[in-house]
Amino acid sequence: MYFKDAIKKCEDLKIRRTVEALKKNHIEAFYAKTPEEAVIIFKDLVRENSVVTAGGCMTSIELGIVEILRSGVYNYIDRERPGITPEEVQVVQRQAFTADYFITGTNAITEKGELFNIDGNGNRVAAISFGPKEVIVIAGSNKIVRDAEEARKRVKEISAPANAMRLDCNTPCTIDGICRNCASEKRICCTEVLTGYQRIKNRIKVIIVDGDFGF
Ligand code: SF4
Repeated sequence: MYFKDAIKKCEDLKIRRTVEALKKNHIEAFYAKTPEEAVIIFKDLVRENSVVTAGGCMTSIELGIVEILRSGVYNYIDRERPGITPEEVQVVQRQAFTADYFITGTNAITEKGELFNIDGNGNRVAAISFGPKEVIVIAGSNKIVRDAEEARKRVKEISAPANAMRLDCNTPCTIDGICRNCASEKRICCTEVLTGYQRIKNRIKVIIVDGDFGF
């Protein structure tokens, strides 16, 4: 076997391992080998005309899912519509708790079948934990890590500084990419949540897309 094929096989096995671990934790999981497959799975999971809201998910933007949500097929409550005010964004964030579906990314997925997220406002981790009838998580296989410790390290070294830079938060990590556990007004790491075994089976569904998506 060629070296690159061997690496690909190891990656494939890791994704399959993670999918099975998520299922054991009552989190339904799907393995999409291509972005197109991910979109097909997404459309199968989300009923037309249902009420849908979304938290931060760069991957759903990259895959064109946000455009699908805006197509009129769904009753999509869009917190990024042009001209929306900060007060209206807060209203949308609260509407997530009574929505049929909440679409989100995740900072990391552990091979033990857990989701790990760090949030600034807390609206995303709150909606993953409780509220919307179903939660659809879309993430690239680059988000898979061994365990919670590695997940936290990944977030602090990659996701949080990158997100702070994207949002112009002016936190210390936006200068050199290093977390200093800041006390900044715009700190984006205020609440950490590890989502493990679920009482409500398959309320949370995860689509893992093979490849690098989001950050
Ligand atoms: S705690 Fe502050 S410095 Fe550290 S990653 Fe979060 S926002 Fe950046």
